[in-house]
Amino acid sequence: PPELFAPQRKNAVGIDLSSPKERAALEQALTRAISGERRFVAKPGIGSAANRHAVRNPADRREVIGEVAFADAEAAERALAAAHAAFAHWGRVRAEERAAILERAADLLEAERGVLLALCVKEAGKTIVDSVADWREAIDFLRYYAAEARRLFAAPMPLPGPTGEDNRLRLEPRGVFVAISPWNFPIAIFTGQIAAALAAGNTVIAKPAEATALIAEEIISLLHKAGVPEDALIHVPGEGHVVGPVLVGDPRTAGVVFTGSTETAWAIQRTMAAKDHPIRPLIAETGGLNAMIVDNTALPEQVVTDAIESAFRSAGQRCSALRVLFLQEEIAPKVIDMLTGAMAELQVGDPARLDTDVGPVIEEAAKEELERHVAAISAQARLLYRCPLDERHAHGSFVAPTLVEIDRIGRLEKESFGPILHVVRYPGSRLDQVVESINATGFGLTFGIHSRIDETIDHVVSRVRAGNIYVNRNIIGAVVGSQPFGGEGLSGTGFKAGGPYYLLRFAVERTVTVNT
Ligand code: GLU
Repeated sequence: PPELFAPQRKNAVGIDLSSPKERAALEQALTRAISGERRFVAKPGIGSAANRHAVRNPADRREVIGEVAFADAEAAERALAAAHAAFAHWGRVRAEERAAILERAADLLEAERGVLLALCVKEAGKTIVDSVADWREAIDFLRYYAAEARRLFAAPMPLPGPTGEDNRLRLEPRGVFVAISPWNFPIAIFTGQIAAALAAGNTVIAKPAEATALIAEEIISLLHKAGVPEDALIHVPGEGHVVGPVLVGDPRTAGVVFTGSTETAWAIQRTMAAKDHPIRPLIAETGGLNAMIVDNTALPEQVVTDAIESAFRSAGQRCSALRVLFLQEEIAPKVIDMLTGAMAELQVGDPARLDTDVGPVIEEAAKEELERHVAAISAQARLLYRCPLDERHAHGSFVAPTLVEIDRIGRLEKESFGPILHVVRYPGSRLDQVVESINATGFGLTFGIHSRIDETIDHVVSRVRAGNIYVNRNIIGAVVGSQPFGGEGLSGTGFKAGGPYYLLRFAVERTVTVNT
């Protein structure tokens, strides 16, 4: 068998939620973290602040969690100047030391699980199970990129040449990286972007999503505590349209790492391409119109479990989430029947309760957009099921998990970032057209196939253009180091997060040839 690529480190074990002891400890830590005695505040790491506002719990808007002061354009500019100056030092810190700092940060994140999980639940509205996965993945990113920094940056690579000539290829950091992260993985993606940029020796301006600045502030303070110099990592909480152009449009920015919508990625790309600016990398991970194909030989029970997880975990707010489930005609009635049965069992409600399966969506505007989509699509399709909501959901941004049947994926112009699953029936003779229609969306993030016929699996897998392909399982929850994550086409640029090439995008190569 081929040798496994497995850098020296172990993924975090997480929390065993089936153990009463671990559960009790977690509940205690959560209560302590957010007991009301502590006030959470996020403000720009440098310079002035404007536009203060209260942060509210998406599950109950009456509850105020803390306060954020958004940076104005000048604060963003000052942060950039400071991070640019700090590169002179951080860019020279040895890879081994950078790695050790990131590993210390991983230990600190592990120790501070109470606060981080509590904020993930209360500020981002994620369920406890989803918050634990988010937190755990962040720790994995820190340790993985630390190991990768040692592997890739420790020493230049000697290359062959004639006698009397010494050739070395060195990897060097680029400068200031602007890291723009989403609210749906406020721990993992936020930390992962920063960890990768720092591991490669860059300084970082961290611009988290507007909705999750409090948890970002906590993570930044842990990274500083672990030994990242203050100016090598600066928090710039702020509104994208205010601070984005300042940070991305400045020639001192050496690269941008971004996770979010395709539209925003295009805007960033345009701003970065300003005339006379250096040509710099954009590492973008954007959306998807992710599909799963189920043929007649699939196991319906497994399909239902995997489809429910893929579509409704994190309230469907994952780039990787399942949006369109293709069912071969003969198996479709049974699977749809079982799916609606399973949806009826979903607990939609307070994410702070351990038995909740589906929490709120991030904000009212998101809820309204999703409801508009359900109304529009129902007019041209068949609404199969919606989970019931009642007065317990009245104060939060809840969207009922929804199952709707459409005739083709082409009906969907873009992804609906929430708990809405579309099903499409197809005759077995049209499998190739189904695959073509999935590719024709232009997105290419995750894809799943359920079948017990190897030839069908091979045939489909070799034709689908998607970054992460899953066979006979769910299509979410990529594991750092095992399932490097990221898409192609409208879904992103690569390289893949949590994979062996990611850090290379954060570096420049220099070849040094010496006549000895
Ligand atoms: N990596 C996550 C997963 O595999 C998704 C990340 C995202 O939503 O951006 O579920």
